[in-house]
Amino acid sequence: MADLLIGGKWVESGSGATRDCINPADGSVIRPVDEATPDDARAAVAAARTAFDDGAWSTSPVADRVAILYRIADLLERDKQEIARAETLDTGKTLAESEIDIDDVVAVFRYYGALAAVRSDRAVDVGDPAVISRVVAQPVGVCVLIAPWNYPLLQISWKVAPAIAAGCTMVLKPSEVTPLSTIALTRILEEAGVPDGVVNLVNGAGSDLGAALTDNPDVDLISFTGGLRTGTVIAESAAEHVSKVVVELGGKNPHIVFADACATDESFAASVDQVATGVFLHSGQVCSAGTRVIVEASIADRFVDALVDRARTVVMGPGLDPNSRTGPLVSQTQLDKMIDFVRLGVDEGAVLRTGGQQPDDPALGDGYFFLPTVFDRCDRTMSIVQTETFGPILTVERFDTEEQALTLGNDTQYGLAAGVRTADPARADRMARGLRHGTVWINDFGYYTPAAEWGGFGKSGNGRELGPSGLAEYQELKHIWNNT
Ligand code: NAD
Repeated sequence: MADLLIGGKWVESGSGATRDCINPADGSVIRPVDEATPDDARAAVAAARTAFDDGAWSTSPVADRVAILYRIADLLERDKQEIARAETLDTGKTLAESEIDIDDVVAVFRYYGALAAVRSDRAVDVGDPAVISRVVAQPVGVCVLIAPWNYPLLQISWKVAPAIAAGCTMVLKPSEVTPLSTIALTRILEEAGVPDGVVNLVNGAGSDLGAALTDNPDVDLISFTGGLRTGTVIAESAAEHVSKVVVELGGKNPHIVFADACATDESFAASVDQVATGVFLHSGQVCSAGTRVIVEASIADRFVDALVDRARTVVMGPGLDPNSRTGPLVSQTQLDKMIDFVRLGVDEGAVLRTGGQQPDDPALGDGYFFLPTVFDRCDRTMSIVQTETFGPILTVERFDTEEQALTLGNDTQYGLAAGVRTADPARADRMARGLRHGTVWINDFGYYTPAAEWGGFGKSGNGRELGPSGLAEYQELKHIWNNT
């Protein structure tokens, strides 16, 4: 079965090349996937351009696009088990996590279905009763949507749903490491009635296809989620053609724990649990993972001991095994990065309290598993405290005053997400306002909703996904001044 969709036709690579999809739980080949050439990528952009310029889709009644968005959600629910299995095989995350991702994706398509149905024209009073003035939203045009490997289906859907709602045409480029769920989604988009050429799909490495997709005068908007370095390269390419660009990048997210949040045994245990889950979920391969734990000094020793105990109880195993609570890292590359990161931490003088290596269970020997890792006695000058880990490694720093906690929480080039645990409502409010991050969780961690914007301050990116702003990224505003 061909894996590239160009102008309404499923085709193989122009060069006949394929890339093996690897199961990170045991290193086995899941299946080969057609690998697009730069010419295939240019053809996909050209098909999206033709479909946009034709006008039938971009000016279609909004009710038609709303119906398609709801149909996509229904079809995803129909195929939930099959897609969740593919996502787990491809990424290594547990089946339960993949199922939650699909539920969230369904909610995103329904949210943008509901939002698209609301007319957004704005009347403007220009002071002359003879003039009818209004601001209308129109689709931005051809969009290139590039996603990472950690939440493959979720991240691409945060882009596809608003792009369809707006009436854009698009080229999807999943990560070459995890293309399977995006191929399944694209087949669903077709089945739901998205016309030929409106959605195109190319698989392959960004280093090969990047220029064809992003340094391309036919592209009106690039929406990219991935690493800081790639985002910078893409923003430079986009600037050449004055294409709009939305980049959602990395994070080094603080999770700040005040002693008053741990006053009882119960609240102490809940805090330890949320801090540990906030970093070890999906083996830490989460852009908003709370890898930088900042604890009030008076409780820090006890808190770190409890975190270490908790880290040692995480049950690792293949994502398809119902007993697994966390799966492997996605690839050998990520595993190598973790090994280097631990070496760096030790060299920098941080105290390695647990983990720092692969598990010694022979049953996991062929997979890319890495033990939950805790580094204590860290400080802000260490590169392990400032560099995005993207793995199950947390660093602990201590503070004495609220002012110090806030300073440390903002002491990062990123600004994606932050967590604060405190029993004091006034302090919670001061911290929430003071933290320069796109999302701040108080006494909770990791939650989001399709109706609220997601994005970063600082080098965590620009623009927003989700919420009304997530739709606005795919629209141009036009002022119509009518003095007929
Ligand atoms: P990456 O930057 O290596 O790759 C992301 C995507 O870009 C992939 O599809 C890749 O093939 C493509 N790509 C690579 N080079 C390209 C180029 N020159 N031109 C065009 N496309 C190119 O990132 P990754 O390793 O897949 O993902 C991990 C990163 O993603 C982390 O930094 C993580 O924080 C970030 N992330 C951010 C969010 C967010 O919401 N802010 C969400 C998830 C992941």
